[in-house]
Amino acid sequence: MAVEVNKEECIGCSVCVSTCPFGAIVMEDGKAVITDACTVCGACVDVCPVSAITLKVEKKEISINKADYKGVWVYIEQGDGQARHVGYELLNEGRKLADEMDEELSGIIIGDQVEHLAQEAIARGADKVYLVQGAEFSHYSTDAYTITLTDLIHTYKPAVILMGATNDGRDLGPRVACRVGTGLTADCTKLSIDETTGLVAWTRPAFGGNIMATILCPDHRPQMGTIRPNVFKRPVPDYSRIGEVVQVASKVKTEDIRTKLIDVLRVCTASCNLEEADIIVSGGRGMNKPESFALIEELANVLGGAVGASRAVVDAGWKPALHQVGQTGKTVGPKVYFACGISGAIQHVAGMSSSDIVIAINKDPDAPIFKIANYGIVGDVMEVIPALIEEFKKIKAV
Ligand code: FAD
Ligand code: SF4
Ligand code: SF4
Repeated sequence: MAVEVNKEECIGCSVCVSTCPFGAIVMEDGKAVITDACTVCGACVDVCPVSAITLKVEKKEISINKADYKGVWVYIEQGDGQARHVGYELLNEGRKLADEMDEELSGIIIGDQVEHLAQEAIARGADKVYLVQGAEFSHYSTDAYTITLTDLIHTYKPAVILMGATNDGRDLGPRVACRVGTGLTADCTKLSIDETTGLVAWTRPAFGGNIMATILCPDHRPQMGTIRPNVFKRPVPDYSRIGEVVQVASKVKTEDIRTKLIDVLRVCTASCNLEEADIIVSGGRGMNKPESFALIEELANVLGGAVGASRAVVDAGWKPALHQVGQTGKTVGPKVYFACGISGAIQHVAGMSSSDIVIAINKDPDAPIFKIANYGIVGDVMEVIPALIEEFKKIKAV
């Protein structure tokens, strides 16, 4: 796509210049000129009073043979040699898709000294694992990982790729999709096979979470998507499963990596690692003021859990957005979820309903959160939480 100005028609009114959100239009000799900063957003097209600006869409010929693309791939993200839960969750769902498509399920593992993860992936449902190892993968690097995954796709041609909608997955997925010339559905919460076409139906919240959109990728391959962590359960490993491990040599050259890692600062402690946490203590507007959140943090600390928050709390600036649980926040699936002073709005529940046990503390006995809670405490958070902290401290001291 490209945006063009017809110089013959342009009357030099400059309206488009102030409309462009990217400062990509300049006036030269009384005529608008589109610069390299243009992102092709299209905002300037409609404002031109003489229709001098046009958006040109080039229809590219698709030269791939879709029949060449086979199998379902799951990208198994790891850090420091530990697989993130989401990779295994996706193996569980990928297994179902692969079985329905009657195709093979493969895990993709890229890292440094991560061979041990291959058998884990097979135990969790993979028929095959493509393993790429090297010191250049010791920390996530956009360039090294993009080059490698792109190369794997060009060589082995998968039909479908599932990736976690994590920070790394959100960085890697779209870049790779662009390089191999396909689309990507981001942040999916449901996957299925479309009965009519046999394609993967990728479902995700759209328009701020007000509707769910289901997206197909009919013309390009592979079909790609990122999926939120904790939407699917991890499979129980079966170490008797046998699979093939394909070792692939890294093609990354030193000069390909444009960034240099100087230091790793771990600003996110266990308290904000919500997606991997077994216990989460979340607070809502019922905590009444930001200072009271110290109680949520103390309870989480005593239990060795992470700290969650409702959107009301994040919007009020009591906690940063990385703690938000819900439809527009994180999707979590801990063993125990404490909801303290949280009403249980549908958008909050959407992010925590797969928790194994929900314990709600709310002073309103009719609060919707009690409908999904396994245990409910009707009371004031300012009294109940200190009592719980004291009890748990006593138990830990024994
Ligand atoms: P409230 O709804 O105000 O509930 C506070 C609760 O605290 C009440 O039940 C009250 O009885 C109780 N309470 C008050 N004082 C005490 C006390 N002293 N002791 C005990 N209980 C007390 N919300 C999210 O959380 N996450 C999301 O990702 C999210 N995404 C959204 C997306 C969209 C498109 C929209 C429209 C909304 C979204 N929301 C989300 C907002 C959601 O609808 C609710 O407004 C929000 O979850 C309410 O937060 P809350 O439960 O903390 O506050
Ligand atoms: Fe600016 Fe968007 Fe027009 Fe490009 S298409 S010049 S970015 S307004
Ligand atoms: Fe020219 Fe149209 Fe831009 Fe006005 S809005 S400067 S007529 S291109």
